Order: sequence, then structure tokens, then C-alpha cells
Amino acid sequence: MSAGRYLIRGADALVTGAAGAAARSDASDLRVADGVVVEVGRGLDARPGERVLDAAHCVVTPGWVNTHHHLFQSLLKGVPAGIDRTLMPWLQAVPYRHRGAFDEATLRLAARIGLVELLLSGCTTVADHHYLYHPGIGFDTSAVLFDEAERLGLRFMLLRGGATQVRHVEADAPAHQRPERLDGMLADVERTVQRFHQRGSRAMRRVAFAPTTINVSLRADELKPVARAARAMGVPLHSHLSETVATIEHVRQQHGMLPVEFAAEHEWLGPDVWFAHLVHVSPSEQRLLASTGTGIAHCPQSNGRLGSGVAPAPALARLGAPVSIGVDGAASNEAADMASELHFAWLVHRAHAGSRSRARPEGQGEAGADAVTAYDVMHWASAGGARVLGFDGVGTLAPGMAADLAVWSLDDPRFFGLHDPGVAPVASGARPRLKWLLCDGRVVAEDDAVPGLDLAALRDEARAAVRRIAAG
Ligand code: ZN
Repeated sequence: MSAGRYLIRGADALVTGAAGAAARSDASDLRVADGVVVEVGRGLDARPGERVLDAAHCVVTPGWVNTHHHLFQSLLKGVPAGIDRTLMPWLQAVPYRHRGAFDEATLRLAARIGLVELLLSGCTTVADHHYLYHPGIGFDTSAVLFDEAERLGLRFMLLRGGATQVRHVEADAPAHQRPERLDGMLADVERTVQRFHQRGSRAMRRVAFAPTTINVSLRADELKPVARAARAMGVPLHSHLSETVATIEHVRQQHGMLPVEFAAEHEWLGPDVWFAHLVHVSPSEQRLLASTGTGIAHCPQSNGRLGSGVAPAPALARLGAPVSIGVDGAASNEAADMASELHFAWLVHRAHAGSRSRARPEGQGEAGADAVTAYDVMHWASAGGARVLGFDGVGTLAPGMAADLAVWSLDDPRFFGLHDPGVAPVASGARPRLKWLLCDGRVVAEDDAVPGLDLAALRDEARAAVRRIAAG
């Protein structure tokens, strides 16, 4: 998959990924060379050696950036003991209950399934929060994940999770699944950064230091050393935070403060930090997040599926905090693709705001209901995600930026009659056919398929793995 020269020509609409009025371009054509967008315009002529991609009846969007996932969970969808449960019973019944099943081959298969699912939803950058790290696990977990992403040609950021403390939900774990010690964790993160982390605005491989959940995975006195180690290595920090009301109570009881205040206390806020969820954050915590540039990986479907709540992503965006979208693991989001995540994000915030709105004088509609636009959501899922992860050269379709882009065909009755084809990927509730997906200027999907991938074989392997996992 070498970076080619392409002219994408004649699109009905071009979504740039930028915020506000710049979200929608008048251009129909886009030229790509050496992995970047070199020209955006109308009526561009093909040059010798360029492949022309006919984008008639298509909308072009940036490749989506998924800022929070757990790929290993792609083989834990719809586990009966965990469906329709809230966070803690679900954690116990699904990811913790089955984590021993993830040997090297099973992890590889799960990662492949999750990555292919994301890729076919137009996602080109995946940040995977992987936390199955145990002393003596017997294989190189991080290498498996980087390898699977590279085979598919995707940009991949490993959010290196893990814990030094045992949570009460996993107290029955066998000895080989015990947590790490801090020195072992630090040494492995350093090794991983040295081996995989690339600098540069269009890096294909990145690493973040991401203890699973800061208020339970580490001792409080380990948080500052971890934050300082990450900053010394020049990698960002990530964790879960404020997912449920029970979390807030737990932190308040243990530490006498709110979770974001707890993070601040331990040097865990800043433009190099982002948290998954942040569902329950007070107005003062929201201001603290925004003023420090701390980001959110907003996971609305998982938060809905687990009954956790609706994160104040629109309020955070209005305050200037970096907002991005994550699908979270497929064990708590059986629709772990960016297309359904975007559709749900758009609807849930409009519905949620509307449920608290008040009537204006007759004929003037509802006050407070306009929480987000379809273009806001696409911005969060592209430039917003790139900002959160620290990829300066990714997430926006403009000259000089990475050629990470999707060409969506609107050749389906669902999309007939659309006045603005630009909103199709969010508003229409099903992903359009993916005509082409480019990552760093390489074609990684064509005509709704991944070149060289045997989907039927992958399905059969998944089925066999599910039987194995269910049998325990
Ligand atoms: Zn998560």
C-alpha cells in the first residue's frame, strides 16, 4: 500500500472537519500526493500519473478519528450476563470475567474485527485503550495491536493502560492476571514508547500513558510520578473518569473532592490529557477542564447502553474544551463504529437539551434545544479527535494536511432527496456505501471492502472464538 497520487473529482459535497462556517466547502475536487492533500477546488484537471476517483453522487469527509476504544472487546458483544446492565455489574460479568481468554491469537482476532469494523465506518485513526497487561502475560500485547493496525494501513495510537491495584470487581482474578508494579509498568511504557512512538504531525504510530481508571487503578501517590514520566517521555496521558454517579461518590468519599479536582491535584490536567466519558462533571469541573485544555473522548452510545448518562459535550465545546468522539469497547457498545456513534451523538444531545428546554413566545420555538449541529458532530469526530490526540497534521481536509478521507456514495434511496448531501454521514442513520477510504494517501478500503481481506473467514474465526470464550 504505497501512497498514490489521486484526483477525487466531482463530489456533491465536501465536509472539511473544521468548525463553524468552514465545516462545509464549496469545492468538489481534491488532489492527493505523497500522503497529503495538495489542492482543494473545483474543475481540477487530472495530471499525468494520477488516478482519478469519480466522486459523482458522493460526499467526501475526513477519515474519522476514534479517541477511545477497547479492541479486545470486539469478541465480547452481547454477552447475556452483561446486556442491559449498568457499569459495575457489566464490568464484572463481561470484560473482567472473560479477560483470561485473550491469549495472543484471540487478541489478534478481536483487534482485527474491531479495526475492520471501524475502517468500514470511515475511521482512519484509532486510539485503543488496552489494559490487559499483567506480569508474565507471555506475549507482546502492544506489538500485536500495532501490527494489526499496520496491516490494515490505519493510524494507530496505543493508550497503554493497566493497573497496579486490584479492583473489587476483579478480586477473584488468578495469579497470572495480577496487576503490575509501578516500576514494571513504567519500564514497559518506556520500552513501548521507544519502540513504537513516532513524533511528527502525521505519525502512523503513537503511544499514550493510560492507566485504566486513575481513581482506582493506581494508588493516589503513584499518579504524579506517572504524569511526570509521561511528560518526560513526551507522550500524552489518558484514562477513564467520571463515568457514573457511583464514581463521583467514590472519589468524594475517598479524597473529599470531585474527580476532576482530584485529577488537578495530581497533575493530571492539561492539553496533553484527555479522559473517556466525563459524564458527570459539575459546572466548575467543566470550567477547569476547559481552562486547562483537557479533552474528552465522548462515548455517547456506551454511556447510553450502560445507562450512565449523557456527557455535557456541547457545554464543554462551548467553553472551548477539546471534544472528540470515541466508540468505547464493543462489549458495551454493540455498534462500535463511527457512523452510528455520530448519528447517536447528534440525536442524543438535541433530545437531551430539548427535554430541558422552555417554550419561547409563540412561533419562536424552544429555548435551549439547539445543542449541536450535524457539522459540530463531524468536527468532533475529525479535527476534534486529532486535537485531542495531538496529531497536528490530521483531521481536516485542507492543503498540507494528511490525506485521510472517505468518499461516501449516496447511491441509495435513503439519500435521495437530500438538500445538503454533506449531512448524510450523520443525519441519515446508516452509513452510506464506502466507495473509497484513504489513510495517509493510501487506499485502505474500496467499494465497501478491505482489499485482500476474507470477511467470511473472519466471521468463521469470530464464531469459533465466541464459542471458546463462552465455554470459559
Ligand atoms: Zn472505556
